Amino acid sequence: MLIADRSPDAAGASVLDPFYRAAGNEVEVFTAAARRGTPVLLKGPTGCGKTRFVETMAHRLGRELITVAGHEDMTSADLVGRFLLKGGETVWVDGPLTRAVRAGAICYLDEIVEARQDTTVVIHPLADHRRELPLDRLGTILHAAPGFQLVISYNPGYQSILKNLKESTRQRFVAITLDFPGADAETEIVAHEAGIDTATARSLVGLGRAIRNLDGSPLGEVSSTRMLILAGSLVAAGLDLRTAVQSAVVEVLSDDDEVVRALGELVDAVL
Ligand code: ADP
Repeated sequence: MLIADRSPDAAGASVLDPFYRAAGNEVEVFTAAARRGTPVLLKGPTGCGKTRFVETMAHRLGRELITVAGHEDMTSADLVGRFLLKGGETVWVDGPLTRAVRAGAICYLDEIVEARQDTTVVIHPLADHRRELPLDRLGTILHAAPGFQLVISYNPGYQSILKNLKESTRQRFVAITLDFPGADAETEIVAHEAGIDTATARSLVGLGRAIRNLDGSPLGEVSSTRMLILAGSLVAAGLDLRTAVQSAVVEVLSDDDEVVRALGELVDAVL
């Protein structure tokens, strides 16, 4: 299903829906979960479309989206809030999770690296039937407004928040797995997002897939849809394809001279 609608439709899509090319039944699963306020675990490699998917769903559901970019040292205070000194006074400032709980928004915890224990502790009572957020420092408990939904994304390739979630909490999440799109869909996405012709997009996608399929690859990351779009946008800005690929894909994937040279040879063979 292609969602790039400019007019209202039966599902509530409105003016300037984000462009999202669905891969499977993720839209239906998310919509059903959202109706119930069920938390969602979104799994998939970096740059495969997880954020765009959540943006699209928030837009279609008419919900505010509050995104928190995960980082290793994220503490519960980063999510919940803290006291700050303002003009000589100590004032409480809500964190993004607290704002989402109050506003009935979707709170998207983007690429949560192995969450620290104190982070998962605040998630537990929000994810289960209680739907509440204890604000220990204020001595209160907030009940999530209708519409509040927790969405956590991670890359199962190198991290798993799952092992830190209590089994009973984990069982309350709905999991949606996204992966890089099929060749035709990815070509359409790269052409659309980068503003390039289909033939050039197809070449980029062919290359991206060849890199992903490398046997015994020494690369920590693979060529993502995001990288291919970036290469395409350089072409749209007037750069030749080979140079664009070198700058946006090859050099980004590795610092190792040998690997960069081998990737360059692959690019020459595929493009
Ligand atoms: P992630 O959150 O998984 O790291 P993003 O959602 O940021 O990845 O995807 C990177 C870019 O790829 C997006 O900005 C968008 O341009 C494009 N993209 C990826 N998948 C899709 C898709 N299914 N439909 C439309 N655009 C997509």
